[in-house]
Amino acid sequence: MGPIPAIDGSSGARLPLKPVYGTPCNGCGFCCAAEPCGIARQFIPDHPEEGPCRAMEFEGGRFVCGMIRRPGHYIGLPDWGDPHMGALFAGALGAGKGCDADDLA
Ligand code: SF4
Ligand code: SF4
Repeated sequence: MGPIPAIDGSSGARLPLKPVYGTPCNGCGFCCAAEPCGIARQFIPDHPEEGPCRAMEFEGGRFVCGMIRRPGHYIGLPDWGDPHMGALFAGALGAGKGCDADDLA
C-alpha cells in the first residue's frame, strides 16, 4: 500500500490512536483512510478502489462514517431516506461491534 494521503476536515486536530482489535471503536479513522469499504465502493458514485474514503466526516474529535450519518449526500439521493438507509449501512458495517481493523505490526 502506498502512502495515505492527508485527510482534511480535521483542521489539524490530533486524532485518537488506533485501539486494539476488538476493543470499542474510537473513531481514529485508520481503517477508512487506508481503503474504502465495500459500502463506499458499491454505493458512492465513481468512488476510487483505493485511497481514503470520501465519506469520512470529522466531528467532536473523531471520524464518523458519512454513509451512516447522511448517505443520501454521498449517493446523490434526497435526505429523507437517510435514517433508514443509514441504519442499514450501520448494520452491514458492524457499527458498534468494536474495531475490526488489524493491529499495526
Ligand atoms: S474501526 Fe478501528 S481503525 Fe476503524 S475508525 Fe474505529 S477504531 Fe479506528
Ligand atoms: S463508507 Fe463509512 S465505513 Fe466505509 S470506508 Fe467510508 S467512512 Fe469508512
